Amino acid sequence: MTVYLVGAGPGDPGLMTTRALELIAAADVIVYDRLIPASALQGAREDAELIYAGKEGGGEWMPQAEITRLLVDRGMSRVSVVRLKGGDPFVFGRGGEEAEALREAGVAFEVVPGVTAGVAGPAYAGIPVTHRGAASAVAFVTGHEDPSKDESAIDWRALAAFPGTLVFYMGVRQLRAIADGLIACGREPSEPAAVVERGTLPDQRVVTGTLETIASVAASEGVRAPALVVVGSVVEVGERLAWFSSEARPLAGLAVAVTRARAQASALADRLRELGAAVVEAPAIRIVPLDGATPDLRRYDLVCLTSPNGVRLLFDRLLGAGLDARALAGVRVAAIGPGTAAALRSYGVVADVVPPERFVAEGLVEALAPVPVTRALIARAAEARDVLVDALRGRGADVDVLALYETVAEPLSEAQVRAVAAADYVTFTSSSTVRFLLQSLGADGAVLRGRLVSIGPVTSEALRERGLEPDVEAGRHDIDGLVEALVADHAGRNREG
Ligand code: SAH
Repeated sequence: MTVYLVGAGPGDPGLMTTRALELIAAADVIVYDRLIPASALQGAREDAELIYAGKEGGGEWMPQAEITRLLVDRGMSRVSVVRLKGGDPFVFGRGGEEAEALREAGVAFEVVPGVTAGVAGPAYAGIPVTHRGAASAVAFVTGHEDPSKDESAIDWRALAAFPGTLVFYMGVRQLRAIADGLIACGREPSEPAAVVERGTLPDQRVVTGTLETIASVAASEGVRAPALVVVGSVVEVGERLAWFSSEARPLAGLAVAVTRARAQASALADRLRELGAAVVEAPAIRIVPLDGATPDLRRYDLVCLTSPNGVRLLFDRLLGAGLDARALAGVRVAAIGPGTAAALRSYGVVADVVPPERFVAEGLVEALAPVPVTRALIARAAEARDVLVDALRGRGADVDVLALYETVAEPLSEAQVRAVAAADYVTFTSSSTVRFLLQSLGADGAVLRGRLVSIGPVTSEALRERGLEPDVEAGRHDIDGLVEALVADHAGRNREG
Protein backbone atom coordinates (compact mmCIF):
# COMPACT_ATOMS: atom_id res chain seq x y z
CA MET A 1 0.00 0.00 0.00
CA THR A 2 1.21 3.50 0.69
CA VAL A 3 3.92 4.88 2.92
CA TYR A 4 3.13 8.37 4.22
CA LEU A 5 6.12 10.54 5.05
CA VAL A 6 4.47 12.78 7.62
CA GLY A 7 5.68 15.85 9.48
CA ALA A 8 4.45 16.06 13.08
CA GLY A 9 5.44 19.69 13.63
CA PRO A 10 7.93 21.13 16.09
CA GLY A 11 6.44 19.94 19.39
CA ASP A 12 3.27 21.85 20.24
CA PRO A 13 0.57 19.25 19.49
CA GLY A 14 -1.67 22.04 18.21
CA LEU A 15 0.72 22.50 15.31
CA MET A 16 0.11 19.03 13.87
CA THR A 17 -1.79 19.17 10.59
CA THR A 18 -5.28 17.78 10.15
CA ARG A 19 -3.88 15.41 7.52
CA ALA A 20 -1.23 14.11 9.94
CA LEU A 21 -3.88 13.37 12.58
CA GLU A 22 -6.10 11.61 10.04
CA LEU A 23 -3.28 9.39 8.80
CA ILE A 24 -2.11 8.55 12.33
CA ALA A 25 -5.65 7.50 13.23
CA ALA A 26 -5.86 5.20 10.21
CA ALA A 27 -2.34 3.72 10.14
CA ASP A 28 -1.53 0.02 10.58
CA VAL A 29 2.13 0.78 11.23
CA ILE A 30 3.72 3.97 12.55
CA VAL A 31 7.48 4.39 12.47
CA TYR A 32 8.29 7.46 14.57
CA ASP A 33 11.21 9.61 15.61
CA ARG A 34 12.15 11.09 18.94
CA LEU A 35 11.24 14.71 18.29
CA ILE A 36 7.52 14.28 17.74
CA PRO A 37 4.94 15.84 20.09
CA ALA A 38 4.46 13.72 23.19
CA SER A 39 0.78 13.23 22.39
CA ALA A 40 1.24 12.60 18.67
CA LEU A 41 0.48 8.89 18.89
CA GLN A 42 -2.55 9.26 21.17
CA GLY A 43 -4.93 9.02 18.24
CA ALA A 44 -3.31 5.86 16.84
CA ARG A 45 -5.40 2.73 16.60
CA GLU A 46 -5.29 0.39 19.59
CA ASP A 47 -3.89 -2.38 17.36
CA ALA A 48 -1.46 -0.24 15.35
CA GLU A 49 2.15 -1.36 15.36
CA LEU A 50 4.30 1.46 16.77
CA ILE A 51 7.98 1.32 15.96
CA TYR A 52 10.45 3.73 17.53
CA ALA A 53 13.22 4.65 15.12
CA GLY A 54 15.02 7.11 17.38
CA LYS A 55 17.36 9.37 15.48
CA GLU A 56 17.50 13.14 15.33
CA GLY A 57 19.53 15.25 17.68
CA GLY A 58 22.41 12.88 18.32
CA GLY A 59 22.61 9.17 19.11
CA GLU A 60 21.20 7.02 16.36
CA TRP A 61 18.89 4.36 17.61
CA MET A 62 18.16 2.64 14.35
CA PRO A 63 20.60 3.15 11.48
CA GLN A 64 19.05 5.03 8.56
CA ALA A 65 19.58 2.07 6.22
CA GLU A 66 17.57 -0.10 8.54
CA ILE A 67 14.73 2.43 8.78
CA THR A 68 14.61 2.65 5.01
CA ARG A 69 14.58 -1.14 4.70
CA LEU A 70 11.77 -1.32 7.25
CA LEU A 71 9.67 1.23 5.33
CA VAL A 72 10.18 -0.57 2.02
CA ASP A 73 9.39 -3.90 3.63
CA ARG A 74 6.18 -2.76 5.38
CA GLY A 75 5.23 -0.62 2.42
CA MET A 76 5.22 -3.68 0.18
CA SER A 77 2.72 -5.55 2.34
CA ARG A 78 -0.92 -4.56 2.36
CA VAL A 79 -0.75 -2.16 5.27
CA SER A 80 -0.75 1.59 5.56
CA VAL A 81 2.48 2.91 6.98
CA VAL A 82 3.05 6.34 8.52
CA ARG A 83 6.63 7.49 8.82
CA LEU A 84 6.29 10.22 11.44
CA LYS A 85 9.02 12.81 11.83
CA GLY A 86 9.50 15.96 13.84
CA GLY A 87 8.87 19.23 12.02
CA ASP A 88 8.77 18.81 8.26
CA PRO A 89 9.92 15.51 6.73
CA PHE A 90 11.91 17.20 3.98
CA VAL A 91 13.74 19.72 6.16
CA PHE A 92 16.78 17.99 7.68
CA GLY A 93 14.56 14.98 8.20
CA ARG A 94 16.10 12.60 5.67
CA GLY A 95 12.63 12.27 4.19
CA GLY A 96 14.10 12.75 0.74
CA GLU A 97 16.35 9.72 1.14
CA GLU A 98 13.49 7.60 2.35
CA ALA A 99 11.33 8.72 -0.57
CA GLU A 100 14.08 7.83 -3.03
CA ALA A 101 14.41 4.35 -1.57
CA LEU A 102 10.64 3.84 -1.73
CA ARG A 103 10.50 5.02 -5.35
CA GLU A 104 13.35 2.69 -6.23
CA ALA A 105 11.55 -0.24 -4.63
CA GLY A 106 8.33 0.65 -6.42
CA VAL A 107 6.46 1.44 -3.19
CA ALA A 108 3.88 4.24 -3.44
CA PHE A 109 4.38 7.14 -1.06
CA GLU A 110 2.88 10.50 -0.17
CA VAL A 111 4.52 13.42 1.58
CA VAL A 112 2.66 15.38 4.26
CA PRO A 113 4.58 18.55 5.06
CA GLY A 114 4.78 19.69 8.66
CA VAL A 115 5.44 22.97 10.43
CA THR A 116 9.21 23.11 10.55
CA ALA A 117 10.99 24.02 13.78
CA GLY A 118 13.13 26.61 12.01
CA VAL A 119 10.07 28.77 11.37
CA ALA A 120 7.89 27.82 14.36
CA GLY A 121 10.58 27.98 17.08
CA PRO A 122 11.56 31.55 16.17
CA ALA A 123 7.85 32.45 15.78
CA TYR A 124 7.12 31.31 19.34
CA ALA A 125 10.05 33.49 20.41
CA GLY A 126 8.42 36.43 18.58
CA ILE A 127 11.05 36.33 15.85
CA PRO A 128 9.71 36.63 12.29
CA VAL A 129 12.29 34.90 10.08
CA THR A 130 11.64 37.52 7.41
CA HIS A 131 10.64 41.08 8.23
CA ARG A 132 10.24 44.18 6.10
CA GLY A 133 13.33 46.29 6.41
CA ALA A 134 15.20 43.69 8.47
CA ALA A 135 15.42 40.51 6.38
CA SER A 136 14.15 39.74 2.88
CA ALA A 137 15.49 36.20 2.81
CA VAL A 138 16.02 33.31 5.18
CA ALA A 139 18.41 30.37 4.93
CA PHE A 140 17.99 27.06 6.75
CA VAL A 141 21.38 25.62 7.53
CA THR A 142 22.59 22.45 9.18
CA GLY A 143 24.70 23.19 12.23
CA HIS A 144 26.38 19.82 12.07
CA GLU A 145 29.20 21.13 9.98
CA ASP A 146 32.30 22.55 11.60
CA PRO A 147 33.35 25.65 9.65
CA SER A 148 36.97 25.21 10.64
CA LYS A 149 37.16 21.84 8.88
CA ASP A 150 38.18 21.87 5.22
CA GLU A 151 35.74 19.14 4.26
CA SER A 152 32.70 21.14 5.45
CA ALA A 153 29.87 20.79 2.94
CA ILE A 154 28.93 24.40 3.56
CA ASP A 155 30.50 27.34 1.77
CA TRP A 156 30.96 29.52 4.87
CA ARG A 157 32.04 32.57 2.91
CA ALA A 158 28.89 32.45 0.83
CA LEU A 159 26.82 31.84 3.94
CA ALA A 160 28.35 34.80 5.76
CA ALA A 161 27.57 36.93 2.69
CA PHE A 162 23.93 35.71 2.60
CA PRO A 163 21.65 38.75 2.68
CA GLY A 164 19.16 37.62 5.27
CA THR A 165 18.38 35.59 8.39
CA LEU A 166 20.34 32.41 9.08
CA VAL A 167 18.58 29.63 10.95
CA PHE A 168 20.78 26.74 12.08
CA TYR A 169 19.30 23.36 12.98
CA MET A 170 21.32 20.94 15.14
CA GLY A 171 23.74 23.71 15.96
CA VAL A 172 24.04 23.84 19.76
CA ARG A 173 27.12 21.70 20.06
CA GLN A 174 28.91 23.61 17.31
CA LEU A 175 27.61 27.00 18.38
CA ARG A 176 31.00 28.56 19.11
CA ALA A 177 32.50 27.27 15.87
CA ILE A 178 29.49 28.53 13.88
CA ALA A 179 29.61 32.01 15.43
CA ASP A 180 33.39 32.29 15.07
CA GLY A 181 33.22 30.97 11.50
CA LEU A 182 30.63 33.57 10.49
CA ILE A 183 32.68 36.38 12.05
CA ALA A 184 35.87 35.11 10.40
CA CYS A 185 34.05 35.17 7.06
CA GLY A 186 32.87 38.74 7.47
CA ARG A 187 29.70 38.93 9.59
CA GLU A 188 29.70 41.67 12.22
CA PRO A 189 30.53 40.39 15.72
CA SER A 190 27.74 42.66 17.02
CA GLU A 191 25.09 40.98 14.87
CA PRO A 192 22.13 39.82 17.03
CA ALA A 193 21.81 36.09 17.62
CA ALA A 194 19.35 33.94 19.56
CA VAL A 195 19.06 30.33 20.59
CA VAL A 196 15.55 28.88 20.89
CA GLU A 197 15.56 25.76 23.02
CA ARG A 198 12.58 23.36 22.87
CA GLY A 199 10.68 25.84 20.71
CA THR A 200 6.84 25.74 20.90
CA LEU A 201 6.99 23.39 23.90
CA PRO A 202 5.70 24.49 27.31
CA ASP A 203 9.25 24.85 28.65
CA GLN A 204 10.61 26.78 25.65
CA ARG A 205 13.61 28.96 26.48
CA VAL A 206 15.12 31.76 24.47
CA VAL A 207 18.57 33.22 25.05
CA THR A 208 19.86 36.16 23.06
CA GLY A 209 23.20 37.85 22.49
CA THR A 210 25.43 38.74 19.58
CA LEU A 211 27.54 36.55 17.33
CA GLU A 212 30.40 37.35 19.66
CA THR A 213 28.63 36.46 22.91
CA ILE A 214 25.96 33.92 22.03
CA ALA A 215 28.11 30.81 22.55
CA SER A 216 29.12 31.88 26.06
CA VAL A 217 25.59 32.94 26.98
CA ALA A 218 24.14 29.64 25.78
CA ALA A 219 26.83 27.67 27.60
CA SER A 220 26.32 29.51 30.88
CA GLU A 221 22.55 29.07 30.61
CA GLY A 222 23.04 25.36 29.95
CA VAL A 223 21.13 25.40 26.67
CA ARG A 224 20.73 21.94 25.18
CA ALA A 225 19.32 20.28 22.08
CA PRO A 226 16.85 20.46 20.49
CA ALA A 227 17.53 24.09 19.81
CA LEU A 228 17.76 26.47 16.89
CA VAL A 229 20.27 29.22 16.37
CA VAL A 230 18.95 32.36 14.70
CA VAL A 231 21.36 34.97 13.36
CA GLY A 232 20.21 38.34 12.06
CA SER A 233 18.59 41.62 12.98
CA VAL A 234 15.16 39.92 13.20
CA VAL A 235 16.31 38.73 16.64
CA GLU A 236 15.81 42.31 17.85
CA VAL A 237 12.27 42.29 16.49
CA GLY A 238 11.74 39.17 18.61
CA GLU A 239 12.72 41.06 21.73
CA ARG A 240 9.85 43.46 21.03
CA LEU A 241 7.32 40.84 19.97
CA ALA A 242 7.93 38.08 22.52
CA TRP A 243 4.44 36.77 23.25
CA PHE A 244 4.87 33.21 24.49
CA SER A 245 5.58 34.48 27.99
CA SER A 246 6.06 32.58 31.20
CA GLU A 247 3.52 34.79 33.01
CA ALA A 248 0.83 33.56 30.67
CA ARG A 249 2.02 30.00 31.24
CA PRO A 250 2.48 29.62 34.98
CA LEU A 251 2.70 25.83 34.70
CA ALA A 252 5.46 25.82 32.07
CA GLY A 253 7.85 22.96 32.50
CA LEU A 254 5.56 20.95 34.76
CA ALA A 255 4.17 17.52 34.03
CA VAL A 256 0.62 17.22 35.36
CA ALA A 257 -1.22 13.91 35.38
CA VAL A 258 -4.96 13.80 34.64
CA THR A 259 -6.62 10.67 35.97
CA ARG A 260 -10.26 11.24 35.12
CA ALA A 261 -12.12 9.28 32.46
CA ARG A 262 -10.88 9.78 28.92
CA ALA A 263 -14.24 11.13 27.77
CA GLN A 264 -14.08 13.95 30.31
CA ALA A 265 -10.37 14.56 30.56
CA SER A 266 -10.12 16.99 27.69
CA ALA A 267 -11.55 20.08 29.40
CA LEU A 268 -9.08 19.75 32.26
CA ALA A 269 -6.20 18.70 30.00
CA ASP A 270 -6.79 21.61 27.60
CA ARG A 271 -6.87 24.10 30.45
CA LEU A 272 -3.62 22.75 31.90
CA ARG A 273 -1.94 22.84 28.49
CA GLU A 274 -3.04 26.43 27.95
CA LEU A 275 -1.22 27.26 31.16
CA GLY A 276 1.91 25.62 29.84
CA ALA A 277 1.83 22.23 31.53
CA ALA A 278 2.79 19.03 29.81
CA VAL A 279 -0.25 16.84 30.44
CA VAL A 280 0.17 13.17 31.28
CA GLU A 281 -3.08 11.52 30.27
CA ALA A 282 -3.72 8.58 32.54
CA PRO A 283 -7.45 7.86 32.56
CA ALA A 284 -7.79 5.55 35.54
CA ILE A 285 -11.56 5.20 35.23
CA ARG A 286 -14.17 4.63 32.60
CA ILE A 287 -17.87 5.37 32.75
CA VAL A 288 -20.08 2.42 31.78
CA PRO A 289 -23.76 3.30 31.21
CA LEU A 290 -26.22 0.93 32.86
CA ASP A 291 -29.34 -0.29 31.13
CA GLY A 292 -32.67 0.38 32.72
CA ALA A 293 -36.14 1.72 32.33
CA THR A 294 -36.89 5.34 31.58
CA PRO A 295 -38.27 6.84 34.76
CA ASP A 296 -41.47 8.82 34.78
CA LEU A 297 -39.97 12.04 36.05
CA ARG A 298 -43.29 13.81 36.54
CA ARG A 299 -44.02 11.57 39.49
CA TYR A 300 -41.40 13.52 41.44
CA ASP A 301 -41.35 17.05 42.75
CA LEU A 302 -37.53 17.06 42.88
CA VAL A 303 -34.92 15.51 40.59
CA CYS A 304 -31.28 15.73 41.71
CA LEU A 305 -28.33 15.36 39.35
CA THR A 306 -24.91 14.79 40.88
CA SER A 307 -22.57 14.82 37.87
CA PRO A 308 -22.38 15.90 34.22
CA ASN A 309 -22.22 12.18 33.32
CA GLY A 310 -25.49 11.64 35.11
CA VAL A 311 -27.11 14.44 33.11
CA ARG A 312 -25.86 13.07 29.81
CA LEU A 313 -26.98 9.53 30.56
CA LEU A 314 -30.36 10.60 31.92
CA PHE A 315 -31.01 12.48 28.69
CA ASP A 316 -29.72 9.53 26.65
CA ARG A 317 -32.46 7.47 28.28
CA LEU A 318 -35.13 10.12 27.80
CA LEU A 319 -34.22 10.74 24.17
CA GLY A 320 -34.00 6.98 23.59
CA ALA A 321 -37.61 6.72 24.76
CA GLY A 322 -38.71 9.53 22.44
CA LEU A 323 -38.84 12.08 25.26
CA ASP A 324 -37.04 15.38 25.76
CA ALA A 325 -36.55 18.15 28.32
CA ARG A 326 -40.33 18.47 28.66
CA ALA A 327 -40.24 15.24 30.70
CA LEU A 328 -38.99 17.52 33.47
CA ALA A 329 -41.80 20.04 33.08
CA GLY A 330 -43.05 21.17 36.45
CA VAL A 331 -40.35 19.26 38.32
CA ARG A 332 -37.83 21.11 40.45
CA VAL A 333 -34.28 20.25 39.29
CA ALA A 334 -31.21 20.41 41.53
CA ALA A 335 -27.58 20.18 40.40
CA ILE A 336 -24.65 19.42 42.69
CA GLY A 337 -22.41 22.07 41.13
CA PRO A 338 -21.82 24.39 38.18
CA GLY A 339 -20.46 21.63 35.89
CA THR A 340 -23.64 19.62 36.33
CA ALA A 341 -25.75 22.76 35.93
CA ALA A 342 -23.91 23.56 32.68
CA ALA A 343 -24.60 20.04 31.39
CA LEU A 344 -28.30 20.52 32.18
CA ARG A 345 -28.31 23.86 30.42
CA SER A 346 -26.93 22.20 27.28
CA TYR A 347 -30.16 20.16 27.22
CA GLY A 348 -32.28 23.26 27.72
CA VAL A 349 -32.88 22.85 31.45
CA VAL A 350 -31.93 25.55 33.93
CA ALA A 351 -31.34 24.06 37.38
CA ASP A 352 -33.52 25.51 40.13
CA VAL A 353 -31.10 24.70 42.92
CA VAL A 354 -27.27 24.80 42.77
CA PRO A 355 -25.15 25.13 45.92
CA PRO A 356 -23.41 28.51 46.01
CA GLU A 357 -20.18 26.79 47.10
CA ARG A 358 -19.08 23.34 48.31
CA PHE A 359 -20.12 21.30 45.30
CA VAL A 360 -20.49 18.04 47.23
CA ALA A 361 -23.56 16.18 48.53
CA GLU A 362 -23.41 18.09 51.84
CA GLY A 363 -23.52 21.38 49.97
CA LEU A 364 -26.56 20.26 48.02
CA VAL A 365 -28.32 19.07 51.17
CA GLU A 366 -27.83 22.53 52.63
CA ALA A 367 -29.01 24.28 49.48
CA LEU A 368 -32.14 22.10 49.49
CA ALA A 369 -32.99 22.92 53.11
CA PRO A 370 -35.57 25.60 52.32
CA VAL A 371 -37.05 23.59 49.41
CA PRO A 372 -40.18 21.51 50.14
CA VAL A 373 -39.70 17.88 49.01
CA THR A 374 -42.15 14.99 49.08
CA ARG A 375 -40.98 12.64 46.29
CA ALA A 376 -37.41 12.90 45.08
CA LEU A 377 -35.39 11.11 42.42
CA ILE A 378 -31.62 11.04 42.65
CA ALA A 379 -30.02 10.22 39.31
CA ARG A 380 -26.39 9.22 39.84
CA ALA A 381 -23.67 6.57 39.69
CA ALA A 382 -24.51 3.10 40.99
CA GLU A 383 -21.91 3.43 43.67
CA ALA A 384 -22.08 6.73 45.49
CA ARG A 385 -22.31 8.08 48.99
CA ASP A 386 -25.80 8.12 50.48
CA VAL A 387 -25.50 11.52 52.13
CA LEU A 388 -28.18 13.09 49.94
CA VAL A 389 -30.55 10.09 50.05
CA ASP A 390 -30.32 9.88 53.84
CA ALA A 391 -30.80 13.60 54.35
CA LEU A 392 -33.93 13.76 52.18
CA ARG A 393 -35.37 10.62 53.75
CA GLY A 394 -34.57 12.12 57.13
CA ARG A 395 -36.81 15.00 56.16
CA GLY A 396 -39.61 12.54 55.50
CA ALA A 397 -39.38 12.52 51.71
CA ASP A 398 -39.90 9.47 49.53
CA VAL A 399 -36.60 8.99 47.73
CA ASP A 400 -35.80 6.81 44.71
CA VAL A 401 -32.29 6.29 43.40
CA LEU A 402 -31.79 5.90 39.65
CA ALA A 403 -28.43 4.25 38.95
CA LEU A 404 -27.37 5.48 35.52
CA TYR A 405 -23.79 4.35 35.30
CA GLU A 406 -20.99 2.49 36.87
CA THR A 407 -17.40 3.63 37.23
CA VAL A 408 -14.88 0.92 36.39
CA ALA A 409 -11.08 0.75 36.26
CA GLU A 410 -9.38 1.59 33.00
CA PRO A 411 -6.12 -0.32 32.92
CA LEU A 412 -3.06 1.86 32.34
CA SER A 413 -0.09 0.88 30.20
CA GLU A 414 3.32 0.52 31.81
CA ALA A 415 4.42 3.72 30.12
CA GLN A 416 1.41 5.58 31.55
CA VAL A 417 2.14 4.25 35.03
CA ARG A 418 5.73 5.43 34.75
CA ALA A 419 4.65 8.85 33.49
CA VAL A 420 2.16 9.31 36.34
CA ALA A 421 4.74 8.24 38.90
CA ALA A 422 7.18 10.84 37.54
CA ALA A 423 4.65 13.69 37.11
CA ASP A 424 5.12 16.88 39.16
CA TYR A 425 1.41 16.99 40.03
CA VAL A 426 -1.21 14.25 40.01
CA THR A 427 -4.81 15.49 39.88
CA PHE A 428 -7.74 13.60 41.37
CA THR A 429 -11.24 14.69 40.43
CA SER A 430 -13.24 12.08 42.35
CA SER A 431 -12.75 9.35 44.90
CA SER A 432 -13.01 6.76 42.14
CA THR A 433 -9.99 8.25 40.36
CA VAL A 434 -8.08 7.74 43.63
CA ARG A 435 -9.27 4.19 44.06
CA PHE A 436 -8.67 3.03 40.52
CA LEU A 437 -5.39 4.87 39.94
CA LEU A 438 -3.92 3.24 43.01
CA GLN A 439 -5.23 -0.09 41.83
CA SER A 440 -3.41 0.45 38.51
CA LEU A 441 -0.23 1.44 40.32
CA GLY A 442 -0.37 -1.80 42.25
CA ALA A 443 -1.99 -0.12 45.28
CA ASP A 444 1.23 1.55 46.30
CA GLY A 445 0.83 5.31 46.26
CA ALA A 446 4.41 5.67 47.44
CA VAL A 447 5.58 5.55 43.81
CA LEU A 448 3.94 8.91 43.19
CA ARG A 449 6.73 11.46 43.18
CA GLY A 450 4.57 14.52 42.53
CA ARG A 451 2.23 16.62 44.61
CA LEU A 452 -1.28 15.27 44.99
CA VAL A 453 -4.12 17.59 44.07
CA SER A 454 -7.64 16.82 45.21
CA ILE A 455 -10.82 18.44 43.93
CA GLY A 456 -12.46 18.48 47.35
CA PRO A 457 -12.94 16.93 50.79
CA VAL A 458 -14.48 13.65 49.63
CA THR A 459 -11.61 12.96 47.25
CA SER A 460 -9.10 14.04 49.91
CA GLU A 461 -10.67 11.57 52.31
CA ALA A 462 -10.29 8.80 49.72
CA LEU A 463 -6.58 9.64 49.52
CA ARG A 464 -6.18 9.65 53.29
CA GLU A 465 -7.93 6.29 53.58
CA ARG A 466 -5.09 4.97 51.45
CA GLY A 467 -2.38 6.59 53.52
CA LEU A 468 -1.80 9.54 51.17
CA GLU A 469 -2.04 13.13 52.29
CA PRO A 470 -3.26 15.52 49.59
CA ASP A 471 -0.81 18.39 49.11
CA VAL A 472 -3.44 20.63 47.57
CA GLU A 473 -7.22 20.68 48.01
CA ALA A 474 -9.33 22.88 45.77
CA GLY A 475 -11.34 25.55 47.56
CA ARG A 476 -13.94 25.41 44.80
CA HIS A 477 -14.82 21.83 44.03
CA ASP A 478 -14.83 21.92 40.27
CA ILE A 479 -12.32 21.90 37.43
CA ASP A 480 -11.66 25.65 37.52
CA GLY A 481 -11.20 25.49 41.27
CA LEU A 482 -8.79 22.59 40.98
CA VAL A 483 -6.69 24.35 38.34
CA GLU A 484 -6.68 27.55 40.38
CA ALA A 485 -5.46 25.70 43.48
CA LEU A 486 -2.74 23.91 41.51
CA VAL A 487 -1.46 27.16 39.99
CA ALA A 488 -1.47 28.87 43.40
CA ASP A 489 0.43 25.97 44.96
CA HIS A 490 3.08 26.06 42.25
CA ALA A 491 3.42 29.85 42.45
CA GLY A 492 3.80 29.62 46.23
CA ARG A 493 6.52 27.02 45.93
CA ASN A 494 8.32 29.10 43.29
CA ARG A 495 8.36 32.07 45.67
CA GLU A 496 9.84 29.92 48.40
CA GLY A 497 12.50 28.98 45.86
N1 SAH B 1 12.56 17.88 10.34
C1 SAH B 1 12.75 18.75 11.47
C2 SAH B 1 14.20 19.00 11.79
C3 SAH B 1 14.95 17.77 12.18
S1 SAH B 1 16.62 18.06 12.56
C4 SAH B 1 12.00 20.06 11.24
O1 SAH B 1 11.57 20.33 10.13
O2 SAH B 1 11.84 20.83 12.19
C5 SAH B 1 16.57 18.20 14.31
C6 SAH B 1 16.84 19.62 14.71
O3 SAH B 1 15.68 20.39 14.54
C7 SAH B 1 17.22 19.80 16.15
O4 SAH B 1 18.60 19.54 16.37
C8 SAH B 1 16.89 21.25 16.37
O5 SAH B 1 17.88 22.08 15.84
C9 SAH B 1 15.66 21.40 15.51
N2 SAH B 1 14.44 21.26 16.30
C10 SAH B 1 13.48 20.33 16.19
N3 SAH B 1 12.49 20.55 17.06
C11 SAH B 1 12.83 21.66 17.74
C12 SAH B 1 12.22 22.43 18.76
N4 SAH B 1 11.04 22.10 19.28
N5 SAH B 1 12.86 23.53 19.22
C13 SAH B 1 14.05 23.89 18.71
N6 SAH B 1 14.67 23.20 17.74
C14 SAH B 1 14.07 22.11 17.26
